Amino acid sequence: MSSIQACNYPALIRFTEVGLRDGLQMESVFVPTETKLELVKALIRAGVRYLEISSFVSPRAVPQLRDAEALISAIPRDSGVHLAALAPNRRGVQRAVDARVDSVVLFVSASESHNGKNLNCEIARSLDNIGEAAQAAREASMPMQGAIAVAFGCPFEGEIDPDALLRIAERYLEIGCEGITLGDTTGMATPLIVQQTLMRLRQAFGPVPVTAHFHNTRGMALANMLEALRMGVTSFESSLGGIGGCPFAPGATGNVSTEDAVHMAHHLGIETGIDLDLLIQAALQLEAVLGRPLPGQVMRAGDRLRRYAIEAQVAAVG
Ligand code: ZN
Repeated sequence: MSSIQACNYPALIRFTEVGLRDGLQMESVFVPTETKLELVKALIRAGVRYLEISSFVSPRAVPQLRDAEALISAIPRDSGVHLAALAPNRRGVQRAVDARVDSVVLFVSASESHNGKNLNCEIARSLDNIGEAAQAAREASMPMQGAIAVAFGCPFEGEIDPDALLRIAERYLEIGCEGITLGDTTGMATPLIVQQTLMRLRQAFGPVPVTAHFHNTRGMALANMLEALRMGVTSFESSLGGIGGCPFAPGATGNVSTEDAVHMAHHLGIETGIDLDLLIQAALQLEAVLGRPLPGQVMRAGDRLRRYAIEAQVAAVG
């Protein structure tokens, strides 16, 4: 990559691919386990080492992810790949432990309305459930990450109360989460809100490891990611081809595309460990599986320095 290192950005960042979970949960047709496995292998070939592979929620709530155990057991683990899975409660954590994932992601929404839709209970009750889930995880020495959905805005309530968000983060840290994931579930973040939220977290808890999860619903995902990078965030979640959404949030659309985000990082002089060409191949493979054009842009345009053979181009009129 370029030898120029932009001094304000981290030298190395981590991408966690969430397309298999956040992306496929929105698809109307079940993607067979074998096909998911081929996509996972393509991602591993491209250098992706962190995957949020599935969700241990009720198969009735999210039928697309009903094959979590089968998929996880089929993935070759010798490549150093880290598999994380979402777990809403103690039962979900137990399934994650039995399936031998590397970490679990607990989740709560920052607004009562979204939490009610997503988890069918009040935030206070969710925080109790999370305490039980965390106990199960600790007993199994399973690392935990605490995710906050609609962290930058709620499609039902608008702005998020900063204190509500801090209370959830505090709870996550109390129960032993290694980091906090801020989820922009319906793409309501702006760079200013990202900056303010990160500053509040830092003022309250010091340098807690934050993972940023942006959706591109309003075309702001890369701008928000850039602001998070500027604020020192080194862990991001993204989806191959820009697929994704939330079945329990109106207007939710895709995550920031992994290829677009990796492309931006590389041209900021930031290492990702990911090969962009192989990643684009994986995105095109996913596009063929889903049978429709995906929202990712770099998967179509290629690297900014992609060059075309001049003689192959049709001459302009005149
Ligand atoms: Zn999401």
